[in-house]
Amino acid sequence: MAKIIAIVNQKGGVGKTTTCVNLTAALHELGKRVLLCDFDPQANSTSGMGVDKSLSQGVYQVMVGDAPVREAVVSTRYGDVLPSNKALAGAGIELISMDSREFLLRNALNQLQDDYDFIFIDCPPSLELLTLNALCAADALLVPVQGEYFALEGLSDLMSTVRIVRRSLNPRLELEGVLLTMFDGRTNLALQVAEEVKRFFPGKVYSTVIPRNVRLSEAPSHGKPITSYDRSSRGAESYTALAREFLRKNSQ
Ligand code: ADP
Ligand code: MG
Repeated sequence: MAKIIAIVNQKGGVGKTTTCVNLTAALHELGKRVLLCDFDPQANSTSGMGVDKSLSQGVYQVMVGDAPVREAVVSTRYGDVLPSNKALAGAGIELISMDSREFLLRNALNQLQDDYDFIFIDCPPSLELLTLNALCAADALLVPVQGEYFALEGLSDLMSTVRIVRRSLNPRLELEGVLLTMFDGRTNLALQVAEEVKRFFPGKVYSTVIPRNVRLSEAPSHGKPITSYDRSSRGAESYTALAREFLRKNSQ
């Protein structure tokens, strides 16, 4: 049965989408069955996987019962994608009146759990109803943290949201890991931030760090993960190393 992992941080621009796309592709390449569920109305991980973000059947249509989930999934050379589209932008408001509104994503993904080893959910930059759906659907969360000043800002809000979700809606939600992204190990500041993050999340910070690498920021406009866009880049090496570390932690 698939392990479902939400990639969450309510701060924008910390590397959630980059991590979702590239970890999916790296695990797919290592022979795992992986689904990326794009749960951000911006649909950047949909296009980052080379999938059209204007498809009419996506995660939103599945959640509200307008599309069968298996029809909405798109297979790519880098793994499968449950795409997002613009309709998801209105979902926060539309879903409020629906029954079990926190569990719509869980109900959709549960139907796919036998088909995959891992399902990653790329979350939007907020802690609103969409992210709540992701935290209710997930077994675990993976938190990318940008290695810079104010990196910890907002993380206590995130962790108190997680505690509330555990208490009321999803008791099995665990912390999968914390990933330092856009990291520049040459600066003292980055090293200090890394120490702080490790103190805040003891034992949970991946030893793999993702460096700042321009190839990682170029790949999305080619609709390719980094391992396909530039295999020899430091970005590709680091996401492949992360995939291996992730698998080691999940085989224990
Ligand atoms: P989020 O999904 O958290 O908003 P993104 O993954 O979209 O963050 O990253 C924000 C921006 O930073 C994007 O333009 C992305 O291409 C770029 N980026 C992400 N990670 C790196 C990295 N390690 N090195 C260089 N640029 C990066
Ligand atoms: Mg994003």
